[in-house]
Amino acid sequence: MFSSADQNRALELLEAIHFFSVKNWSPATSTNYSVRSTQPGKFIISRSGVDKSRFAYEDLILIDGAGQVDPAFAAPGVKSSAETDIHTALYRLYPEVECVLHTHSVAGTVLSMTPERELRFTGLEILKGLEGNATHELTEVLPIVPNSQDMGEILSALDGRLAGAHGFLIKGHGLYTWGKDIASAKRHIETYEFLFECELKLRS
Ligand SMILES: [Zn+2]
Repeated sequence: MFSSADQNRALELLEAIHFFSVKNWSPATSTNYSVRSTQPGKFIISRSGVDKSRFAYEDLILIDGAGQVDPAFAAPGVKSSAETDIHTALYRLYPEVECVLHTHSVAGTVLSMTPERELRFTGLEILKGLEGNATHELTEVLPIVPNSQDMGEILSALDGRLAGAHGFLIKGHGLYTWGKDIASAKRHIETYEFLFECELKLRS
């Protein structure tokens, strides 16, 4: 189904999806994941509604920049996530980004309910897990935007708030982050999840 050039990306994305599931960061069929296809303007993305602990290679599908499923992958019930528009918008915003990942962890969800508009992390060695950070002596800002079932509203709320950010939280919902390849996007998820767990413990 995928071109041979896309197969390796699909398999690497599948491995990351299973890792997140084992970590309990993708419960109840939630979360979605994508990587750029080697075909320009196309994306490999997790299809909607699948239990991530049983997610299979066949559950990855090819879509275009408008979120339309490639005819070669079309089948009854096969659709891309409702949140696909967030993925495609991030790829348009960041031409250098190759992978977009979205998890729903307990720690991230609890912290997203803070009345503040962002989380700020400082002084922790793990901050070097975020691309371009060479020291723990910095403050990393993670914007929080209101949740909505209308992706346009979420994207509007992000307007002007992503400068310097490596990701964002949707309130009561979950984390989005991205990277120059699957490995760096996965590292960003792990970094943020570590930060969330530290922050929860520090606040309790
Ligand atoms: Zn979600």
